[in-house]
Amino acid sequence: MEEFIARLLDLQDCDRDIDRLKSDLESIPQEMKIHRKDIDGHEARFSLFRGNLDSIRDKQKKLTGDRADNVARIADYKSRLLSLKSNLEYTAMLKQITHAEKMNDLIDNTILEAMYEEDDASQVLERALKERDRAVKRSAIREESLREKLRDLESSLAALEVSRFEIAEKVDHKHLKIYEKSRSTGHREVITGIRHGSCGGCLTKIPPQRAGEIKAGITYTCPLCGSYVVWTSDSSF
Ligand SMILES: [Zn+2]
Repeated sequence: MEEFIARLLDLQDCDRDIDRLKSDLESIPQEMKIHRKDIDGHEARFSLFRGNLDSIRDKQKKLTGDRADNVARIADYKSRLLSLKSNLEYTAMLKQITHAEKMNDLIDNTILEAMYEEDDASQVLERALKERDRAVKRSAIREESLREKLRDLESSLAALEVSRFEIAEKVDHKHLKIYEKSRSTGHREVITGIRHGSCGGCLTKIPPQRAGEIKAGITYTCPLCGSYVVWTSDSSF
């Protein structure tokens, strides 16, 4: 293998590690987002159930008020009963009292139903609260480990970038320029192996004579993709 290729290969290995680290780094905010979304979902469910319970309690309050009004009304009717002069008035008032008492029974039934509703809604809310708290706890642990991973990755990346600089300094300028240009177009394997007699980068067939030269250690530049084609441990004609 030619000297410049060996140096470029070191650089390419280093770049591959850098690429991997960068993609790991990029995945972290995504994962954080997923956790936040999960928590938001739990919060939304929790506030929905809380709103439901609050409205049941408001209803109960209103029912209790209605009942008190009705009881007061009955007391008022009864007190007026004694002062009524005619039978007709008396019978009419008795009817009103009976009606108001029936209303009370109805309100009592509704109050009882609302109590059951409140029990159910409280249980649902309590479950949602527990689930939310569990999710928050789980996420906090996961996020902490993600932050730790982020710090590790960042310091590894910084170290790798220093080594890359040192490795790149050893590559001669002309080859470095070709390599960088090729990478900037998205080509990640500028130095590639010959595989089944073809360029490992673009799979173009390489003339047999050239393939023989590659095996003998002479570098071939692929006319199609610009890769430096070399003989590697997994190379074959
Ligand atoms: Zn090629």
